[in-house]
Amino acid sequence: MGRKMPFAYYEKEKREISVDEAREKLITKSLSCITESCRVPIIYIGPSERNYSNRVSRVKDYFKLKTNKKPHADNCKYNTKGQLKIFARDSEGVLTSLENGEFNFRLNLITSSLKSEKTKCFTDEDASIQGLANPSTKKYESKGKIDPYLSTMHKILKLRSEIESNSELIDLVNLSFGGQNISWGNFYYPEEHYKKCYNYVVKKKAVHPICLEGIIDGIKEPSDKFPFYSVSLTKPRVDNIDKDGIKRIPSVSITLYNESTIKYIQSEMAKGKENIAFYSELKVKSNHYGLEVEYLNIIGSINHKQQVHIF
Ligand SMILES: [Zn+2]
Repeated sequence: MGRKMPFAYYEKEKREISVDEAREKLITKSLSCITESCRVPIIYIGPSERNYSNRVSRVKDYFKLKTNKKPHADNCKYNTKGQLKIFARDSEGVLTSLENGEFNFRLNLITSSLKSEKTKCFTDEDASIQGLANPSTKKYESKGKIDPYLSTMHKILKLRSEIESNSELIDLVNLSFGGQNISWGNFYYPEEHYKKCYNYVVKKKAVHPICLEGIIDGIKEPSDKFPFYSVSLTKPRVDNIDKDGIKRIPSVSITLYNESTIKYIQSEMAKGKENIAFYSELKVKSNHYGLEVEYLNIIGSINHKQQVHIF
């Protein structure tokens, strides 16, 4: 429904146009989906801006459905449900299509895949997590076949990044983890919900993988004190002061234990991309900064490139 599209079919001239051409030539009418068997009416949405604590980020323009009452044809690649069905088919059981039209994702399979990646990455896992490992400790990259569970979640993250808001996947995807049901809304957090994520992990003592989306603020190189790369995300702008007089600012960082992930992030950033979605088990801790500010730190850890999507 809310899928963003970079191309449209321009009915007037019976040809495809890109969003750049639509912007330059001010073409906003007579547009439909590029899939021949679909051709539902679509519209052009201009660029916009989002405010963060220390910057303003530009959201690129795109095409989208004119009305949700006329969704994409079932076989159109922009039909979200159709895409999820394709992912489910190739997922080796991690994503299943249910009779009611929704989907279930088995998060515990992801956890076991990640655990095996972790042991491949470390010689001394605990020491590494605490940042005590020798930087020269040999790290092993996984070779060969891509884990179908991790790659299915990666496809869903990519799909999510092409959808306007979280609501469509909230309606379509539920997750299960060791007998619990987890809604998509408790799994996937865009930056306006970082605080909700922090509270969820603290209150529910959540141990399942959780996904966060945001904008990369910077990459920190390894140091003597902490021998791993880490990525910090741009902090959301917080105007509200809580009743106790303290302003609580969520702060997300990700530790990278995998070299190919660092290279992937750096090469995508060199192309001008700055948005990131990642999932991992999270650690949370707060620290006070003076009397009036408290940082709500959320720390993720990456052992496999498939845990990250840059867009
Ligand atoms: Zn379509």
